[in-house]
Amino acid sequence: MDYVGHVIRPPSEAYSMIIQVTVGCSHNQCTFCGTYKDQKFRVKDIAQVKRDIDEMSGYRYGFTKAFLADGDVLILPTEDLLDLIHYIRKKNPSIERIGVYGNTKAILKKTPEELLALRKAGLGIVYQGIESGNREVLRRIKKGAFPHKQLETAEKVKAAGMLLSQTVLLGIGGVALSEEHAIDTGRHLGEMSPQYAGALTVMLLPNTELYRDYTAGKFQLPDKFGLLNELKLMLVNMKVKSPLYFTSNHASNYLPIKAEIPRDRHMVIKLVDEVLRKRDESLLKPEYMRAL
Ligand code: SF4
Repeated sequence: MDYVGHVIRPPSEAYSMIIQVTVGCSHNQCTFCGTYKDQKFRVKDIAQVKRDIDEMSGYRYGFTKAFLADGDVLILPTEDLLDLIHYIRKKNPSIERIGVYGNTKAILKKTPEELLALRKAGLGIVYQGIESGNREVLRRIKKGAFPHKQLETAEKVKAAGMLLSQTVLLGIGGVALSEEHAIDTGRHLGEMSPQYAGALTVMLLPNTELYRDYTAGKFQLPDKFGLLNELKLMLVNMKVKSPLYFTSNHASNYLPIKAEIPRDRHMVIKLVDEVLRKRDESLLKPEYMRAL
């Protein structure tokens, strides 16, 4: 297997066949992200990727899902992606769904026809980190995508019949933009109504610009209860158009919740409210158990 760096994949792809198609992330500018800082983005040699698929196919039978890593495999020309998807499925007839990370730019470059062809071939889910629904926050963190463009991508992915799974970041607006970030992100998720959305909590990584801002006193992270207040504001403002499965059970979070919105919205708001009212840290995940 020719795997460069660590395997980075969504938690829901833990049992998938992981095939590395690109190394790094073509954007690689987000101020909070240290994942690919030491990697120069490149598309791997397709012949090598196919050898890896051959190896993985012989390694274990019965995979039902595959995930194409790293950062944004959707940036590949559609013909190359189709070729890889067909190859994976030919070698692994049991695979029912293939997933990728897709950033806003990469999705917008694809035509509706290309996305439809990819979905028909087996690309069933796109994972997208949107981080915030607030324009100023997105500008500050150099996400390279504003809310109206993210909305456009959500509509394109869903129109092609693919599942969309988005992540947002508690705390990414800092203390200064905490409320705006939370309210706008809740509204934005409601407007986009992906099938899945997850909240993670910012962790300050030493190799990032955000960390340097933090040590220079330019960025201040809300405290644990400030972060929980963001979670509550997101939920309060999340008026969805279709059912959304929302989670905050990622290892970085202080309070794990799982909810189908709108069905469970009031129930989880009540739960978060109760923890906010008690301000009892023993109800939260201890610091040493948090991770990315
Ligand atoms: S958060 Fe995603 S888009 Fe931003 S630099 Fe990291 S991998 Fe790339």
